Amino acid sequence: MKNVKDAKLSARVVSEVIDLQSKLVGMGQQAVELQEENRRLMEENAALKKEKDLGDTVVFHDGANWRKRDDGTEEGPFCPNCWSDGRLHRAQVNDVAGGAVYFACTRHGAASPYLFTVPESLVKGVNLDPHRGRVSFGAVSTPAVKWPESF
Ligand SMILES: [Zn+2]
Repeated sequence: MKNVKDAKLSARVVSEVIDLQSKLVGMGQQAVELQEENRRLMEENAALKKEKDLGDTVVFHDGANWRKRDDGTEEGPFCPNCWSDGRLHRAQVNDVAGGAVYFACTRHGAASPYLFTVPESLVKGVNLDPHRGRVSFGAVSTPAVKWPESF
């Protein structure tokens, strides 16, 4: 009689243990999923913070976007069309004439680059001489992009 009772009890204990084990496995999977979600959210948060910090330092004036440095000076010019997509991108100098630098950003397609003009006095750290007056190294060059007449 005692053996039958023991056997029943033992079977119940085994069944409970199996049940608990399967619950533990489920909880382990949940923990892994939560860790994964937490990692994803932290990455997303870091990306949003970076975007916001960048947005706080980028301004638009004189036909282009500029990034304010900590020392108060500005870096640029950057393509305004690229910045509307949240990217800072320097464009190619297409021409220098009449105190203005004509930029062409080819990121929007080589056939239809985005064109913008910045006062020459604001363009620093770029050797504009090869582009000046459409004369390049003594030879008359045609600009890479034809400017609209209304520009
Ligand atoms: Zn661009």
